[in-house]
Amino acid sequence: MTDRITIVQKEGITLVVSGPSGVGKNSVINALRERYNDIRHSVSVTTRSPREAEIDGVHYYFRTKAEFEEMIAEGEILEYDIYCDEYYGTPRSPLERMRREGINVLLDLTVKGALSLKESYPNAVLLFLIPPSGAALEERLLNRATESEEIIQSRMNESWEEMNSAFEFDYLVVNDDLLQAVQDIEAIYWAEKHRASRLFIDGMQ
Ligand code: 5GP
Repeated sequence: MTDRITIVQKEGITLVVSGPSGVGKNSVINALRERYNDIRHSVSVTTRSPREAEIDGVHYYFRTKAEFEEMIAEGEILEYDIYCDEYYGTPRSPLERMRREGINVLLDLTVKGALSLKESYPNAVLLFLIPPSGAALEERLLNRATESEEIIQSRMNESWEEMNSAFEFDYLVVNDDLLQAVQDIEAIYWAEKHRASRLFIDGMQ
């Protein structure tokens, strides 16, 4: 007998990393991308201006508000949210194609965006990053922000508001030590790769 039995994914896994603003999503996502080459990135559409070294079509698709609203009207946006007065959204067809082709995709979404994506794809895996403390969250927001005290305070309130959605997610991961958070997510990813409902058995008579 030389026939080998293998387990094959029916479709690509959609892994969403989210959490309140200031929780340190970016560093976790960058670390995950460095470690995994079997996981693709979904390029979002945004109306914010490109930062230095950001390339259209690589980091984001940079579009005007009118263009973004046209995409929504045409049903080309799977989910979207408004963050700091700018639109951010996931283009529908590339993600659908990657899922069909069995490609696993990592998305970095706002809390609202993650929950709305789950409505379209109930088997998407939603991870919620938890800050180690309120002080750590505030410090990150302060370090990042160039805005007034008032805006920082309103961001802080928004972040706490977002924490209320934590239990609508599938997994909670504390982002205190970066390496630990990345290892926790890896364990979740590996387990999801073996979830029976995602697989079929090839080579069985
Ligand atoms: P930034 O401007 O720093 O690149 O991203 C700002 C926020 O937008 C981050 O919290 C990020 O998670 C979120 N974001 C990026 N792309 C998308 C998207 O396609 N949909 C949603 N809902 N949020 C996104």
